[in-house]
Amino acid sequence: MPALALPIVRTVADLRGQTALWRAAGQRIDLVPTMGALHQGHLSLIAKAREDADRIVASVFVNPTQFAPGEDFEAYPRDEARDAALLSGAGCDLLFAPTASEMYAPGFSTTVTVAGVSEPLDGQSRPTHFAGVATVVAKLLIQAAPDVAVFGEKDYQQLQVIKRLARDLDLPARIVGAPTMRAEDGLALSSRNAYLSPAEREIATSLNAVLLGLARALADGEAVAPAEAEALEALIAAGFDSVDYIEARNADDLSRLGPGPIGSAPTRVLAAVRLGKTRLIDNRAV
Ligand code: AMP
Repeated sequence: MPALALPIVRTVADLRGQTALWRAAGQRIDLVPTMGALHQGHLSLIAKAREDADRIVASVFVNPTQFAPGEDFEAYPRDEARDAALLSGAGCDLLFAPTASEMYAPGFSTTVTVAGVSEPLDGQSRPTHFAGVATVVAKLLIQAAPDVAVFGEKDYQQLQVIKRLARDLDLPARIVGAPTMRAEDGLALSSRNAYLSPAEREIATSLNAVLLGLARALADGEAVAPAEAEALEALIAAGFDSVDYIEARNADDLSRLGPGPIGSAPTRVLAAVRLGKTRLIDNRAV
């Protein structure tokens, strides 16, 4: 039996109209923000939301302010009908798919910046990215006013930025992280994997393998600086065109670790690499 068509709202007023009814009925609302081009990773966030929510709202919005000039904003894959069918099948109750002008009215001039956790790693390679993310996520959390918002650990730094943002601005939503979904060969699922040629797709597998190797070396007590250097060499040897970073960081505040062993610090290893026209990120717990 085909799944029922998913209701779609495109304005903040309509989103608030629907969520207000649910809230008045005492229902718990979870929000799952996405940029669409949905895959099993996104659907795992819906499944996570299903564990506690009465109602699940997903948003699909390719947010222009988190792309820098020359990045893939125009090329980013978009297929709303397919996304809506997948969301409906996964048990989502409402899709919020606003236009850019609904989200950014003429004269829009407020930006949310999160210092500290936004600054290293992707903050160095993509200096305007996290301000765009923090601003749009702050808006979505205010618009939908969910009890819980679910984000993937795939974008580990983004998850830390959003946790900080919600805490600092007293946004009442609880921010929940969900584990990374991977292909059988270990490559983290990503909408951007669609850009990879078959040859690039094979090289891409090494990203997860090198991160796992680095995590293991650090867990075994190897010093951070040489372990990172070895991992960087392994990525270049695997065929990546360049490496923005591969580093061990404190898992809570993303502060630098090393140059010696990690000791008892909660640790995450994170990497960003470039392969042809594609930029891939991934991370692993130590
Ligand atoms: P995006 O559409 O890429 O902005 O991602 C929307 C949400 O899905 C973010 O919270 C991501 O971290 C999450 N996500 C993306 N890929 C995966 C994955 N492979 N596993 C789990 N969550 C993911």
